[in-house]
Amino acid sequence: MGIGKNIASKNDALGFEPTNKYVCYECAENTPWEHIVADNLQKKHCDYCQEEKESAPVDMLVEKVLNEINSSYDPHGFSETYGEKIFDTEDVLIQLDYWTGCALSIDILESIKERNDDWCAKESLDSDD
Ligand SMILES: [Zn+2]
Repeated sequence: MGIGKNIASKNDALGFEPTNKYVCYECAENTPWEHIVADNLQKKHCDYCQEEKESAPVDMLVEKVLNEINSSYDPHGFSETYGEKIFDTEDVLIQLDYWTGCALSIDILESIKERNDDWCAKESLDSDD
């Protein structure tokens, strides 16, 4: 889709700080992103194991995670309705089952929280209906 070509000029709109890193399938195995990595191998170098293995752009994973976050959370960290539902980025990743604690998930976390670390749930997470 030619996304990579325009990434530099779209950084401000991206909502995350680009990592410019690549990850191989082995380093992403058993994470929520292993299938995305397997389908997007673009470069023969992994920034995690430093091996010359086919790797996928980490920023693509960050973008997908951020899209997922944005569908459930408001980046302004406050809402009139659920003003008390403030989470930091790590809480949000845990709630969305995107937190593994591995180097890859830490980079994804840092990339997102660099721009915004206050999230407010768009809907009540403990609604009693
Ligand atoms: Zn690797």
